[in-house]
Amino acid sequence: MRVLISGAGMAGLSAGITLGALGNHVTIVERAGHLRVNGSPIDIRGDALGIAGRMGILDGIRRHQVTMTARTRFVDADGNVVAELPADEVGDSGDDIEIPREDLAHVLHAALDPATSLIFGESIEELHDAGDDVAVTFRSGREDRFDLVVGADGMHSLTRRLVFGPERDYLRHLGFYIALTNLPAEHDGDPGNPILNWPGHMIGITRYRDVALGVLNFRSGWIDYDYHDLEAQKRILLDAFAGHDEWQVPGILDAVRDDPELYFDSVSQIHMPVWHRGRVVLLGDAAHCASGLSGRGTSLAVTGAWFLAEALRTHPADLAAASRDYENNQRPYVERAQATAGPGGDLVVPATQEELDARNARLRAMAGHSRPGR
Ligand SMILES: Cc1cc2nc3c(=O)[nH]c(=O)nc-3n(C[C@H](O)[C@H](O)[C@H](O)COP(=O)(O)OP(=O)(O)OC[C@H]3O[C@@H](n4cnc5c(N)ncnc54)[C@H](O)[C@@H]3O)c2cc1C
Repeated sequence: MRVLISGAGMAGLSAGITLGALGNHVTIVERAGHLRVNGSPIDIRGDALGIAGRMGILDGIRRHQVTMTARTRFVDADGNVVAELPADEVGDSGDDIEIPREDLAHVLHAALDPATSLIFGESIEELHDAGDDVAVTFRSGREDRFDLVVGADGMHSLTRRLVFGPERDYLRHLGFYIALTNLPAEHDGDPGNPILNWPGHMIGITRYRDVALGVLNFRSGWIDYDYHDLEAQKRILLDAFAGHDEWQVPGILDAVRDDPELYFDSVSQIHMPVWHRGRVVLLGDAAHCASGLSGRGTSLAVTGAWFLAEALRTHPADLAAASRDYENNQRPYVERAQATAGPGGDLVVPATQEELDARNARLRAMAGHSRPGR
C-alpha cells in the first residue's frame, strides 16, 4: 500500500514506523524544514510503554529518560521558594517515562524503515479522494497518488480542514495559552524548576541536563491569529506579560523575542465523532488533541499509530473495517486523557490572588511547612 503521512511529529513518525513495518511504501511530508524538536520533556505512560516495547523503541526511550517533575517550585517576585509541587500532583504514576521531545523525535526517526521517504519543507496543498486512491497535490507543485493518507499534522491539522471541515467545528479552547522558549546556555539562577505566578499568569524555567527552557502560560479567551506567523505569536505573548520586570521575567521575555523556534499555542482539545473518511484517517493531535494539560498527547500518538497498523494488518483488504477497528481501540484512551486534562491549569495558573494564595498554602501544608521557606 502507498501511504502518505502528513506531519513528522510524534504521531507521524510513530505511524511511519508501524505502517512501514507492515511493508507499506511510506512517504512522510513535514511542513517545517527539519524535525521540530523543541518543547519540554513529554511523558510516555500507561499502555503506550508496552506498545513502545513492541515497536522496538522502548530501550531507546529509556536511554534518554529524564526526571524533573519532582523539582518544580513556586517562587515569589524575589525568587524565594513559597511552595513546592510534589510529583503526585502532576499525575506521575512512577512507571511513566519522561523524555525530551528532541530525544524522542530522534529515537522515532532512527527507527523508521530506511525505505521511508521523509520530505521536509513540504505539505499537502490539495487532496481528492477518488474512492480507489487519493490524488494529492503538494505545495511544491508535485502530484502523486496514495492508497491511504494519514493526517498527523497536529492540533491545527490541514488534513482535517481539507477533509472534515473547519477547525472551529472540533476545537475546544480550555482558556489558556502556552509558550516554550529556549533560554541561553549561560542562563543561571535557581537550580530547580522555578515558577512565578501572578493572577492568570505563570512564567518559569524548566531544566533538564544542560538545557533551560522558559515556560509561559496565561489565561485568555480565544485569540485569532495566523498560526504560522511567528511575529504575531511573539506580540501576543509579550503583550500578555508586559509590565513585569520582577525575578527573571525580563531575561525570559528577551529569549522569547530572539527565539526563531518559539512554541506558542492555545491549550485546546480536538473532539471529533469520527477520525476517518474514505481513504483519509487522522492520528494524534489532529484527531483528538487532549492538550498538554493531560500529559498524555504523546502516549496517544504512540497507541494510535500502533492500533492503526494493527487494524490494517487485520483487515488488509477492507480499509473501512480497519479504520473502525483503529477508532474503537484508540477512543477509550482518548476519552480518558481528555477527561483528565481539567484541573492542571488551575494548579499551575491560578486565576486570582486568592486562589494563588490558597494553592501555596495547600502545598505548604502537604509538605509539612508552616510558613514559606527561604
Ligand atoms: C514544536 C512543538 C513543541 C511541543 N512542545 C510540547 C510540550 O512541551 N509539551 C507538550 O505536552 N506537548 C508539546 N507539543 C505537542 C505534543 O508534541 C503533541 O501533543 C503530541 O506529541 C502528539 O503529537 P502529534 O504528532 O500528534 O502533533 P505535533 O507534535 O503537533 O506534530 C505535528 C507535526 O506536523 C507538522 N505539520 C503541521 N502542519 C503541517 C502540514 N500542513 N504539512 C506537513 N506537516 C505539518 C508540524 O510541524 C509537526 O511537526 C509540542 C508540539 C510541537 C510541534
